Amino acid sequence: MLSSTAERAICEAVDRNFEAQIAYTQDLVRHPSLRGDEHTIQDFVADAFRARGLEIDRWRLSPEDLASHPGAGPVAVSYERAWNVVGTYRPPVERGRSLILNAHVDVVPPGPLAMWTHPPFEPVIRDGWLYGRGAADMKAGHAANLFALDAIRAAGLAPTGRIHVQSVVEEESTGNGTLATHLRGYRADAALIPEPEDEKLVRANVGVVWFTVEVQGRPAHTREMAEGFNAIDAAYRLIGALRELETAWNARHGDHPHFEDLPHALNLNIGRIEGGDWASMVPAWCRFEARFAMYPGQTAEEVRTAVEEHLARAAAAHPALADSPPRVTWHGFFSQGYVLEPGSEAEDALARAHAAVFGTPLESFVTPGYLDNRVHVLYDRIPSLCYGPNCRAIHGIDEAVEIESVRRITKAMALFVAHWCGVEPLAGERG
Ligand SMILES: [Zn+2]
Repeated sequence: MLSSTAERAICEAVDRNFEAQIAYTQDLVRHPSLRGDEHTIQDFVADAFRARGLEIDRWRLSPEDLASHPGAGPVAVSYERAWNVVGTYRPPVERGRSLILNAHVDVVPPGPLAMWTHPPFEPVIRDGWLYGRGAADMKAGHAANLFALDAIRAAGLAPTGRIHVQSVVEEESTGNGTLATHLRGYRADAALIPEPEDEKLVRANVGVVWFTVEVQGRPAHTREMAEGFNAIDAAYRLIGALRELETAWNARHGDHPHFEDLPHALNLNIGRIEGGDWASMVPAWCRFEARFAMYPGQTAEEVRTAVEEHLARAAAAHPALADSPPRVTWHGFFSQGYVLEPGSEAEDALARAHAAVFGTPLESFVTPGYLDNRVHVLYDRIPSLCYGPNCRAIHGIDEAVEIESVRRITKAMALFVAHWCGVEPLAGERG
């Protein structure tokens, strides 16, 4: 049991290191770690882990190894630069419970640069918020993993359980980075991922799939438009059909525990579309990329079957599409959702830590986005806590994280680690 003196010492250490923590977070934001370009930030992270004496494991994701796992996202890009880094802390004698602290380094594209107040990879602090692509999702949490451990050490304490600090890629596209840590054999008694979750604990989340639909049209001069088959019009028709599926599935939210109060958790997003060659030419082709979701308990295979059957029915009902049915391919996320079952000791430990810092009980909620915690819950079968700071506009323009919220969260995380793993006086400071 952690004494209140030790709790206070850990929180004071977070305060003392906090300026350095924010500076380190800004360094992380300065790396434009877009998909396929995460290698330099992982070098930077590995150096930071090494400087703390963590044992470094650094490896490149293998599409072949991943392909053997049902939760892997099909890989449609090069993994030449897709490196994971894990820094492991091992106590001299392992008496406490073990823990995985996980965070992803990849970020989504910034979108139109002209819409940003400041360039997205130049971290700026204004009115108590740190701005930049990835500042909230999730470089603040990534830094908090490391600085929570720093604070315990700076308080003269050492955890008595093994801790794996995982820095993963591919969270924004497949979830293959964290899955690769599972395939590499990393296991612990619990996991924590400090995604920007508004200082609450995620109780459940949806599964996510990505797919591409391609339509082959028949080009023609526009004066003979009726003789052609417009692939863009056909794509609109197919998107309409997918919206019917979206409506039907969301209507059943009441049947799914934890989603009773979420009437639209399954969001179909048409994220990208292209097609055609010339304004006065009936377009011969169109392709669009979509993201769809599922409730916990549904499998990605079920979603694939339902989507493909629904599109096939819609195509069969249309004369031209019946002759030229759409081609559907699956790439990116192919992941199930999960539920964090209430009542775990890990959740209790986090609730205690949260209450000590915030003075209020830990609240939980359900979020309709993908989270890497599914790997731990579904495949490691351990409690995996997703809990992190207040944010604005993640995946949007002028993404930001609230700095004082990062401070509170880091304190709660450090106390959680101390509660969960146990602590003893740092070697050399005993007696
Ligand atoms: Zn994230």
